[in-house]
Amino acid sequence: MNVPVMTRGPLNMVGKQTDELVTDLVAASNVSKSFGDFTALGPLDIKIKRGEFVSILGPSGCGKSTFMLMVAGLLAPTVGTITVGNMLLTKPLTDVGIVFQDHLLLEFRTAMSNVMLQQEIRGLNRPATQQRAKELFDKLGLRGAEDRYPRQLSGGMQQRVSIARALVHDPSVLLMDEPFGALDAISRTQIRHDLEMLWMETGKSVLFITHSIEEAIGLSDRILVMSNSPGRVVKEIVVDLPRPRPAYLGHYPEFSAYADDIYKTFEELGIYHFK
Ligand code: ADP
Ligand code: MG
Repeated sequence: MNVPVMTRGPLNMVGKQTDELVTDLVAASNVSKSFGDFTALGPLDIKIKRGEFVSILGPSGCGKSTFMLMVAGLLAPTVGTITVGNMLLTKPLTDVGIVFQDHLLLEFRTAMSNVMLQQEIRGLNRPATQQRAKELFDKLGLRGAEDRYPRQLSGGMQQRVSIARALVHDPSVLLMDEPFGALDAISRTQIRHDLEMLWMETGKSVLFITHSIEEAIGLSDRILVMSNSPGRVVKEIVVDLPRPRPAYLGHYPEFSAYADDIYKTFEELGIYHFK
């Protein structure tokens, strides 16, 4: 097998080097997490290829956020292992950008200086990072917002700044935990499209957590549908729709087929009770 081995760059993750060759950028193997006697999720086997956009779609409390924190190396699995590149995660991952539902911007820093926090913390080259931040501001529709404070921005704009902050150091992995959950439907549609365009350009591996069926179909190469707690992957759906996908997905007959499939799975799991 001729598989490229990931090299360990200056910003790469910390942890133990594994000997295996890897084709997947992220690989969670037999992962479970318990808090005391309570099993929150698993066992899970989840892989994400380099450049792939994978969504985890599941009901509240099934362990989505817990799983994401484990991929970030911020929480250790109780059982199983997670590798990123060829590194077994034993410490927080650094080659990563994270976007949460809450923007988590510092109120006393402007939009640009929130993004440049990455440069300060990571000790990156300042002019190069500034240049990259400017490009991200342009691509994310943030031009003119550089000197504004978070409270002067709409919810959608705040999330755009969070996305810029998550990408300015050019990480291999982007983790997003219900990033558009608090936005109105109209802003959500626009930001979904803009994220898709940005992803198509940058080719990041994305783990996107959502409970929106439409968002998952609109964005993903692959959707992993999770059961109720303790969350396990009950269905994998490869979304074979052209990109960029339209705002109104009903445009595609295939969209309804994917959505039907997911609703049916949720009904079978007892998540929905339709009469
Ligand atoms: P989701 O993101 O899918 O809504 P979470 O990953 O936040 O779910 O939580 C999964 C389950 O694990 C929930 O029942 C939650 O209460 C529990 N849980 C999460 N973190 C902790 C923790 N630190 N200690 C105890 N229980 C936790
Ligand atoms: Mg959550």
